[in-house]
Amino acid sequence: KLHNEVQELKGNIRVYCRIRPFLPGQTGKQSIVEYIGDNGELGVANPSKQGKDAQKLFKFNKVYGPMAVQAEVYSDIQPLIRSVLDGYNVCIFAYGQTGSGKTYTMTGPDVGSEVEWGVNYRALNDLFQISQNRSRVFMYEVNVQMVEIYNEQVRDLLSNDDVVELMETGLRNRAKGTTAMNERSSRSHSVVTIHVRGTDTKTGASLRGSLHLVDLAGSERVDRSEVTGDRLKEAQYINKSLSALGDVIFALAQKSSHIPYRNSKLTQVLQSALGGHAKTLMFVQLNPELNSYSETVSTLKFAERVS
Ligand code: ADP
Ligand code: MG
Repeated sequence: KLHNEVQELKGNIRVYCRIRPFLPGQTGKQSIVEYIGDNGELGVANPSKQGKDAQKLFKFNKVYGPMAVQAEVYSDIQPLIRSVLDGYNVCIFAYGQTGSGKTYTMTGPDVGSEVEWGVNYRALNDLFQISQNRSRVFMYEVNVQMVEIYNEQVRDLLSNDDVVELMETGLRNRAKGTTAMNERSSRSHSVVTIHVRGTDTKTGASLRGSLHLVDLAGSERVDRSEVTGDRLKEAQYINKSLSALGDVIFALAQKSSHIPYRNSKLTQVLQSALGGHAKTLMFVQLNPELNSYSETVSTLKFAERVS
């Protein structure tokens, strides 16, 4: 069954769109979402246009509306994650402006609340559980790392062979060194890497798989006239690395002979995880507010390019 499910996820790159709900206190606002089709269509409202032109249509592999819960999202990507134990390399990204739900999708709002666990915890849990179930036939070694990339510098948040609590430590470390936690975490990329090595207990044959879970820095453009100094430098680094990522995924999708991995730390760190037979999934996160329209459209354009 697993094999069939993996086969269904054909092609190496898939793009899922997720629209977060309005937050408490935001009731009565008009949503940018006009239409969600059964086959990944998304119609967004253009507030400055009238009539037929007022809706723009985009196409994804899948679209999650604001009511989609964490378990639903995870169940769709579970086959992909489990395929890591069969030796696949899988890379999952969350892309979008700050406040669009990237961290919600990848980590969840609160580690204490299991129903709201994001992809990271569910994936780790799953991989450990399955590797235990298979332990008579296969011996698995699971290794977890977490790094942050900030201003083109890579920082280890944890590098250890232990489990979920370590990821919490990593998340806490990510927040350190700044008063406004959200500030820093939205200006850096966080990459959780899970390496798996399985050995057949009978034959001794071994396989390796990997899972990279990436919560990207906020994609919002900053107005050059409004920021200076450190903020401008941050913005330029983010810009550079997100476009380098877009270029790499685009080149991979085109089956280009040259993949420009060297243009940013992010793509260098992910080089072994992208390309070859690796499977890539990108969550394109959208903010439902109409006044985010121009930012939303630039997010959707990025998505169109890589899909
Ligand atoms: P980002 O990481 O892109 O900056 P967050 O994940 O921090 O955005 O989300 C911003 C806010 O919206 C948080 O308060 C988060 O809990 C909430 N949120 C995001 N997505 C959802 C969702 N699908 N359901 C409920 N709340 C969400
Ligand atoms: Mg975040």
